[in-house]
Amino acid sequence: MSLMVTGAAGFIGANFAHFILNKHPGIDVLVYDKLTYAGNLDNLKDIRGRIKFVKGDICDAEAVGKAIKEHGVDEIINFAAETHVDRSIDSASDFLESNVKGVYTMLEAARKYDIKKLLQISTDEVYGSIQDGSFYETSNINPSNPYSAAKAAGDLLARSYYNTYRLPVLITRSSNNFGPYQFPEKLIPLMILKAMRNEPLPVYGTGMNVRDWIYVEDNCAGIDTVFHKGRLGEVYNIGGGNEKPNLEVVRLILKQLGKPGSLITFVKDRPGHDLRYSLNSDKTKALGWKPAYTFEDAMKKTIDWYVNNEWWWRPLLNK
Ligand code: NAD
Repeated sequence: MSLMVTGAAGFIGANFAHFILNKHPGIDVLVYDKLTYAGNLDNLKDIRGRIKFVKGDICDAEAVGKAIKEHGVDEIINFAAETHVDRSIDSASDFLESNVKGVYTMLEAARKYDIKKLLQISTDEVYGSIQDGSFYETSNINPSNPYSAAKAAGDLLARSYYNTYRLPVLITRSSNNFGPYQFPEKLIPLMILKAMRNEPLPVYGTGMNVRDWIYVEDNCAGIDTVFHKGRLGEVYNIGGGNEKPNLEVVRLILKQLGKPGSLITFVKDRPGHDLRYSLNSDKTKALGWKPAYTFEDAMKKTIDWYVNNEWWWRPLLNK
């Protein structure tokens, strides 16, 4: 068995590579990643000798095919994507390439090379915002920004390949992840690093936008569960059950680092900013998964990791 994990030089993929090697020590893992600004081989430094690595673009059908053939790949998890909403608002082009055409290329490769299973990593952002209640896997898709619209297209395309060709596809939609190796443009690492250096912490709008947070290791365990126990052609939500307004998250970071609330500065809101995300994860829980970490414990682990790993984040600050 050889598992190709695309985008695993990025945040969640790298955590997943660590998780899977720990859980299934004999597993043969091929990391395939374009190494965009968000891809970083330092994320795989301590497992570099235990994985194979190919630098390549998921939009490049020839390179994908070559990697699959040469490494005898029979299963794929596709994490590779452009992921930062603000960048998608500035320019959507790379998002359409990687998050739509890239998924199409991986699906076609899976057909051509008879891949046994392909899991497409999607996001709760495909559902858009919700005022009351939570999104189920059957809820409408209603994305609000170019990032989530492109992810929705990739997600639906993956499903269509199951319906049309019976390609063995699974899809996970998780909520907002946090933990080690997250590129410091995203809310939690950005705020931790700014607070550590006594810089102002920029909070969008009133800070009342609610996100459901999941510790990345809990998401990895959810992905592993769905990959091994999920029903082909199905979508699975993976939520942490930790709904918090951004301002509360930022205040907790300041408190845990012993820094003053006066570091918070409110900045002009992001256009199309979804007010609240909320996921119902009962379908994934029915497979035997549940989050192992409380939000507070996971935040403490995360903050400690950034405090103790300046070698990792210092070179990224000007990227
Ligand atoms: P990330 O930005 O940290 O990493 C993305 C990785 O993909 C990088 O290593 C990058 O080099 C690689 N990549 C980008 N385009 C590529 C291409 N065309 N070919 C090959 N590699 C390419 O992202 P992340 O936060 O780890 O997210 C991983 C996946 O999880 C994405 O699909 C994202 O949409 C999804 N997701 C993320 C979150 C979150 O909170 N971070 C939540 C739900 C879903």
